[in-house]
Amino acid sequence: MTSPPIEGFSKLGIGPMRTRSQTERERRAQAQAQAGAGAGSQAHQQAHQQAQQPAAGSAGAAMASSSMNERIIRSGRFRYDISGLSEASRERFRDALECGKAISVEYCEETEEAGSYVFHVKDTFPIFVEKDEPQLDKPQSDEPHPSAPHCDCGMWEEGLACKHVFWLEDQLVRAFGDESYVYRLAGDASTIENKTHADTITPYRLIERRELSELAKRRDWLLDEQGLEEGEARTDELNDILSVLEPTGLIHEDFVATLPGSPSLSQAYQQFRDSIIAYAARNDDLYVRLRSIVDPTIRANVFFERMQDRVEQVFDDLQEYVNQGPTGSERPFGVVECADKLEELVKEIQDGYDKRISNDPGDRDAANRAVRALIDVLEGVVDRNRDLYQGTAWPIEQIQDRNLFPRLIKSHVMVGDELFVVDMLKNKPPEVLREYHERLRSIAAKLQFFGAPEPYVSTLNSIAPPHGQKRSAPSAGGSSSKRPMK
Ligand SMILES: [Zn+2]
Repeated sequence: MTSPPIEGFSKLGIGPMRTRSQTERERRAQAQAQAGAGAGSQAHQQAHQQAQQPAAGSAGAAMASSSMNERIIRSGRFRYDISGLSEASRERFRDALECGKAISVEYCEETEEAGSYVFHVKDTFPIFVEKDEPQLDKPQSDEPHPSAPHCDCGMWEEGLACKHVFWLEDQLVRAFGDESYVYRLAGDASTIENKTHADTITPYRLIERRELSELAKRRDWLLDEQGLEEGEARTDELNDILSVLEPTGLIHEDFVATLPGSPSLSQAYQQFRDSIIAYAARNDDLYVRLRSIVDPTIRANVFFERMQDRVEQVFDDLQEYVNQGPTGSERPFGVVECADKLEELVKEIQDGYDKRISNDPGDRDAANRAVRALIDVLEGVVDRNRDLYQGTAWPIEQIQDRNLFPRLIKSHVMVGDELFVVDMLKNKPPEVLREYHERLRSIAAKLQFFGAPEPYVSTLNSIAPPHGQKRSAPSAGGSSSKRPMK
């Protein structure tokens, strides 16, 4: 908000100055007009009265001059010509301008199917601004003009918009107007006119032209771009949001409560999390706020970053097992378990990709992380192409139980399954893959050298075409080789 409306009135520039007694008289008239208002307006009236306190010092009793003499009123730094409005419209318009924070937008959205912008107003009805061309024929007087925003507060009368709609149009002017011009609203709110330029526009067209996102930004409103989930889907989403914020390190370390009987930090966090989810499940305001703080792009990035960490962890666990051998009590994590885990992770990455990555350019970083995690898996397997238990006395007979490479790379082709990791990579955006061409070429060269099934090499070559002539074996093949530097 810029300067409060009340202040604006005292700086009246054009037209007769409003007197205190006028304000007093109008307040009484507004109170009368509001007496017949529908449900939901009571809170507004209270807040409305509070908002008016600064001007309520005067006790101008009887007054003669009619507010119909007034031509220009101000809203913040903007001016409106109200000479064309009826007395009743003026009352409502003033009511809108003087409402302070009694009317505020909880969040706004664009609904595609109805072609409308919806402004969810706190504690009252949403205001709809619908896509309708202004009609040449005068609409029936018992229904609002098609281009006029409407809300369900019940204050709409023949050709007379409610204060919520006037309030919204004032917000549009404040967002997109120019304070050097004078504006004029229609009594039924069907149009906003720039009187200085004799330029008239419907509210829908104005939002369409300047974009809802820009309006939300300028008025500091939450914009919901995805449609609110309900029921279980909302709970799932809230879980996803809060898992991003989970202080993993702290919770899972040996951080215990010092007082006996009090919850551990982990339990306390769980209760906090459950309370937030339970509240946001039925409170749109909190829900929209949370999902805008932890938006899907952040969630996707965190998801794939954690996937990368898990891939690294899996290889570390394998190495630890190889170093220490089966220690008896520990859960074994050898080649077989590692291979299963990697297959699981690859599937999780692919599922996460399908679910979380849209065509939004903001998701490019997340797509990049997903691709990197997949390549980490593939490279980790290729670089460990050796008998990992060599030199140990462990009784493991089958080579595919001693080496990830035959287990994951060769077996997929033998059973006619899709190529391990490579088939997932080939469907990723070329502009993301391009950043990994060198790594992919190096992997392809190693695969060829190791005699991997041909489809692996040819698919990788199609993703990252080899430089010039097709290479022969990599200069330093084998398990311990680092990938060739370019
Ligand atoms: Zn209304």
